[in-house]
Amino acid sequence: MSDQQNPSEGANKVSKTDAQWQEQLTEEQYAVSRCSGTERAFTGKYWNHKEVGIYTCVCCGQPLFSSTSKYDSGSGWPSYWEPVAKEAVIEHQDHSHGMVRTEVVCGRCDAHLGHVFPDGPPPTGLRYCINSASLAFTKDD
Ligand code: FE
Repeated sequence: MSDQQNPSEGANKVSKTDAQWQEQLTEEQYAVSRCSGTERAFTGKYWNHKEVGIYTCVCCGQPLFSSTSKYDSGSGWPSYWEPVAKEAVIEHQDHSHGMVRTEVVCGRCDAHLGHVFPDGPPPTGLRYCINSASLAFTKDD
């Protein structure tokens, strides 16, 4: 199934129907990435993953985070201090669950990735707290 592009959203955007995403993703990947779910801490594929490479969007394949900016935050979710590029992700204010947080979504397909908090390590001081279910991984050669 080819990626549909919405002309009003720019050439690089990926847009699919819910049925198409459901067909492509596992139940958990769909619940997290397309319905803003959260995997339970310490249960995901990547919170303790230490290989060298690039974490990509599980929905559209866009490179999102490098292993070089991954660190152990102790949270039980994969944590990074920066995305691979500023435009790789889009950040939105999120007022759900009685909290004010900053949601992080894929800049290409709007997949829900997680949230960013201002309690990360240098040099950015940011903690991108990301669900494993929204990620895939490509190991460096
Ligand atoms: Fe994506």
